[in-house]
Amino acid sequence: MQWHNTRRYAHMSDAELADIRTQPCGCHLIDDRFKEEGHLRTSDPHVLPDSGSLRQLCAMGAKFRPSIDSALLDADSKTDIISSLTSSIKDFPRKSADRALKTECMNEWQALVIQRIQDTVNNIPDGLCCSTAKPLSYTQSDEIEMRAFLKDKMCTSMDKAAGTIMFNCQRDYVDRMQTDLDANAVFEISPRTQSDIVHESNEFGSRYGFAPDMRNQDIPYYKGIDKMHKDPVGTRFISSSASSHMKRVFFFFSPLNILFNALSLDIDQLFGEELQSMGISAVWTARSWILKNTAELIPLLHV
Ligand SMILES: [Zn+2]
Repeated sequence: MQWHNTRRYAHMSDAELADIRTQPCGCHLIDDRFKEEGHLRTSDPHVLPDSGSLRQLCAMGAKFRPSIDSALLDADSKTDIISSLTSSIKDFPRKSADRALKTECMNEWQALVIQRIQDTVNNIPDGLCCSTAKPLSYTQSDEIEMRAFLKDKMCTSMDKAAGTIMFNCQRDYVDRMQTDLDANAVFEISPRTQSDIVHESNEFGSRYGFAPDMRNQDIPYYKGIDKMHKDPVGTRFISSSASSHMKRVFFFFSPLNILFNALSLDIDQLFGEELQSMGISAVWTARSWILKNTAELIPLLHV
């Protein structure tokens, strides 16, 4: 089921968004405990209709998937479990390499963890049920109820708790996004359409050997997730590049970061020598660095 999520609003026209902002919302019918500043903003599943398994399903969070009926363990399902966990464990050093850790350091750990997984899963007796809980399923009546509930609402996730489903008033959400965009000098309105931007970008990329990524043809879009741990409750605004036409380029340049980090000592030395040859004798003590995001800049500014 396609919920009213953040991406839905990125595909709306200005007229559709303006319509949402001017139409009255139905928040006056909602209990105050589910609202912030007069509009729906909650992760409490009790806001949902009390019938079927809808509340129960949403209480499991955004990452929950209903279990399959065949929860009995047999040799095949054990092989699947081991193979899936092994593949994740084997992939972990690659992700660590992105953080400039040496992958060889993890070989011993990796072999030990995989061995323990194999021993543990193979020691479970065949036929043991994975869960004694009644499997949850998403029924047609749940879907009808959810569609009715989301008529003027939208779903997003919570900051610091990405697995939690948040329900927002659609009007309030669109209003917050637009207000922040209007107040933010970083952004400006482009006279070009989305297809113009994607087309030009694809053409530019092709000149450098990047074939257009036909599965990802969106442009980055603006979205917000709720900061429920703040008082008053806040919004974390995000410029999201999920499904962006630039994804393939980002994936190409991301490993270069590791290369630059590895070369930075040599670059510092060359830079120091160059300064000296220019007669600049100031002692250069700071190492160069590569910022991946603003979080890395803040500690440097505090030095
Ligand atoms: Zn509202």
